[in-house]
Amino acid sequence: MNRAATDVATVKLLIDGEFVESATPQWRDVVNPATQIVLARVPFATSREVDAAVAAARRAFATWRKTPIGTRARIFLRYQQLIREHMAELAAILTAEQGKTLPDAEGDVFRGLEVVEHAAAIGNLQLGELANNVAGGVDTYTLLQPLGVCAGITPFNFPAMIPLWMFPMAIATGNTFVLKPSEQDPMVTMRLVELAQEAGIPRGVLNVVHGGEEVVNAICDHVDIKAVSFVGSTKVGTHVYHRASQAGKRVQCMMGAKNHAVVLPDANKEQTLNAMVGAAFGAAGQRCMAASTAVLVGNAREWIPDIVARAKALRVNAGIEAGTDVGPLISSAARERVERLIDAGVVQGATLELDGRGFRVPGYDEGNFVGPTIFSGVKPGMRIYDEEIFGPVLVVLTVDTLDEAIDLVNANPNGNGTAVFTQSGAAARRFQEDIDVGQVGINVPIPVPVPLFSFTGSRASKLGDLGPYGKQAVMFYTQTKTITSRWFDDDTRGHGVNTTISLK
Ligand code: NAD
Repeated sequence: MNRAATDVATVKLLIDGEFVESATPQWRDVVNPATQIVLARVPFATSREVDAAVAAARRAFATWRKTPIGTRARIFLRYQQLIREHMAELAAILTAEQGKTLPDAEGDVFRGLEVVEHAAAIGNLQLGELANNVAGGVDTYTLLQPLGVCAGITPFNFPAMIPLWMFPMAIATGNTFVLKPSEQDPMVTMRLVELAQEAGIPRGVLNVVHGGEEVVNAICDHVDIKAVSFVGSTKVGTHVYHRASQAGKRVQCMMGAKNHAVVLPDANKEQTLNAMVGAAFGAAGQRCMAASTAVLVGNAREWIPDIVARAKALRVNAGIEAGTDVGPLISSAARERVERLIDAGVVQGATLELDGRGFRVPGYDEGNFVGPTIFSGVKPGMRIYDEEIFGPVLVVLTVDTLDEAIDLVNANPNGNGTAVFTQSGAAARRFQEDIDVGQVGINVPIPVPVPLFSFTGSRASKLGDLGPYGKQAVMFYTQTKTITSRWFDDDTRGHGVNTTISLK
């Protein structure tokens, strides 16, 4: 973190419709991971600034909560068009600050765009229910009403998609929002926020504060915030869940992962190998749904040399260069951490089939590169299996049967994503029934659900009942109110004092 003023651009806060400079003395550099060039400086907002953002959101809620459905929906219709028109610009910003390849960056924006499109259908999504004549002349119906000020805290690895998982659905359902983007790559998030303002989100409805632990704690504790959506590591998410729940908020935390790709020997070999290599090493392994663990069942263990050959052929380079498969890691600290974990794998006795440590890319000598790395002979208890590596490292385990594979996956603390590769419908069905993981792919390596469904997770990968987009987000961001009503004709005469409705 640095403090002195420099001539580098500063990332602004958004408070009450104005993009403002933070008054904080604490700043951090936003760094291009391929070149180490400082792109901007991001502030760690003061507690007064957090309070001002929440206060603005609270004031805006008074009118926004009653804004007609059509008005809300049309803002998101305009917003999706603006995102489409700015796709190339958004992807370029994202690649510069995050490191992923340009096509991957477009994918990041696109998966968020799909949620914006979904939010534009809010008229159909936020319908209540009505039961006619639950008693004589009595109807019961439900309203799905917004909660108030909601907040979102996002990780570095999808700086477009994950903010878009949060504020569009929260705002479309009638809430106001305070967003805390990742301090490592806030620039594409801010461009998306500018476009949201341009699309017509009224002042105070969407606010942004930047920072780290202190700002997150202030959000968890703030008495005027009603719900918190968090995506990030299990360690931080568990803290956020307990702290914000303690303060009486609704909380959903989508957290860490160790996703297993289970390969049966009858799988389509070409398709499976390609899928596995893409899912393990794409985005430099920094996807929460990366298939970072291969479980080869029976004779599929003979495929290890094929996996290594395909991984060797991947091109490691800056994300901006055409044809790049694997870009740099987000920071030099992340690279050092991944390399230390590879060291630990060697020390703990796994077989290093492909070593990506110390990878140098000509022209990008300062980049945070780690080349594709593969371990075989991996066992639970080794750090490379027990910890989320979050880098281009595939660990390979072997088992004899599908049952053993299912037991292994279910015994892992994480339950974010998994996939089975097989040509057997019966085996796939067995897998889908018995596996305890949120997202399950059948011959699909990264089964992220489209926004008609919701992202979910099991065990250490998720805390809270409802997911961040799809139908579950509508429930998360609304309170169900149940109305039971009876209307009398003007000439009706009442008797007695018993006001309970008879259901007979
Ligand atoms: P992170 O937990 O370090 O940071 C997430 C957010 O928490 C950031 O906004 C950060 O500023 C804040 N934060 C960091 N340290 C904090 C602290 N001590 N107290 C309070 N707040 C703190 O996560 P990351 O490294 O940015 O993202 C990678 C992680 O996110 C991986 O574990 C990945 O699996 C996970 N992830 C999960 C999903 C999912 O849907 N399950 C999706 C994407 C990423």
